[in-house]
Amino acid sequence: MQYDLIVVGGGPAGMAAARAARDQGERVLLLDDNPGLGGQIWRGREDLRLEGVELGLGHTLTEWRGEAKRLILACGARELLLPFPGWTMPHVVGAGGLQALVKQGLAIQGKRVVVCGSGPLLLAVAANLRKAGAEVPRVAEQAPWEKLLTFGLGLWRWPSKIFEAVGYATSGYRAGLWPVEAWEGGVTLSDGSKINCDYVACGFGLVANGELARLLGCRMNGGLVAVDDWQRTSVEGVYAVGEMTGIGGVEKAEAEGRAAGARQRVTGNWGAFASALAKTFALREELRALATAETIVCRCEDVRWGRIATMGGKRQARLEARCGMGACQARICGPALEWMCGWGPENVRPPLFPLSVREFLRDRDEAGHPPTGHSL
Ligand SMILES: Cc1cc2nc3c(=O)[nH]c(=O)nc-3n(C[C@H](O)[C@H](O)[C@H](O)COP(=O)(O)OP(=O)(O)OC[C@H]3O[C@@H](n4cnc5c(N)ncnc54)[C@H](O)[C@@H]3O)c2cc1C
Repeated sequence: MQYDLIVVGGGPAGMAAARAARDQGERVLLLDDNPGLGGQIWRGREDLRLEGVELGLGHTLTEWRGEAKRLILACGARELLLPFPGWTMPHVVGAGGLQALVKQGLAIQGKRVVVCGSGPLLLAVAANLRKAGAEVPRVAEQAPWEKLLTFGLGLWRWPSKIFEAVGYATSGYRAGLWPVEAWEGGVTLSDGSKINCDYVACGFGLVANGELARLLGCRMNGGLVAVDDWQRTSVEGVYAVGEMTGIGGVEKAEAEGRAAGARQRVTGNWGAFASALAKTFALREELRALATAETIVCRCEDVRWGRIATMGGKRQARLEARCGMGACQARICGPALEWMCGWGPENVRPPLFPLSVREFLRDRDEAGHPPTGHSL
């Protein structure tokens, strides 16, 4: 089937893009690896619809052999997890990850959760966990108060964000504080405080899911996909929208999606909001030294920091220590090491995600290619 547009990602950005293109009479296919629409923020909502758009849900796009006139990448972002002693213990989880588990039915009622790391997502997670019945004694933000104050004073440019921030306010919020060690039943923070808890929900900001864009040869800019005012990437016919082009929240994602879908110039000053976020929540130097020689860095292959700290780059770490060669294919340790060591990203090769042999063979034509190149 020939489509005018294929959208990869069914979060706010991808949905807005698909809707806008459909409204212009385009034949649109939207793919997402989740079983439902909504992406990260609207995960689990059952009221989301995209009439007039063909949906391929539950499909991970692992390679591209395009059969559409246009492709819009709306692949979102994932959490940055930094290694520190104890971070691989079962009670230490990603902040957004724990929220996703709760949305999918994990019982959190009455559990004590310390939320820590960096970024506004911590506040959203804390508020949502409290709403679900958890006790959140501390939200520890590594950014200093001065930066947060400057950011707050500039929020008049994005009034909707003022209301959002007020809604998330909590007396347990502390700036200039971060986790240094997790132990069974609790966590120690950088001021020496030890807090007993059932979960440590930890995330040091978000990193763009840029692998597909890199596979297609799109120009990148500091881990983000470089785009023009129409959301066009450096590759003809390929657009990128939402968190992939800058971590800026749901309004930015929707504005960019609408623009790309309708082939219009993006409106609003959400790019400036993303820049303000990046500046405010930039990670402090101390975090580079959280891991000790014994700390596991690549949790898939159990590679410890002492084994790779003196290596020259990801390739050497991969070849000599199997760092990044496990099930997640460096999605966790890769961005952490880029930040800790200043290492660049490696080349991306298909398949983008590990496949079982059954998946690899399913739906292939005689030449071994998937029939449309858009799924598997
Ligand atoms: C774990 C997490 C939790 C978050 N929770 C909140 C929150 O509670 N409140 C808030 O304001 N913001 C939250 N955010 C930020 C939120 O993601 C953004 O504000 C905004 O929703 C981003 O929209 P998006 O469409 O760009 O990306 P997303 O919403 O991330 O959507 C991207 C979609 O693309 C899919 N995808 C990616 N690659 C592929 C592929 N190769 N094949 C198929 N599908 C693919 C993903 O599974 C995902 O469904 C969260 C972010 C993360 C990472």
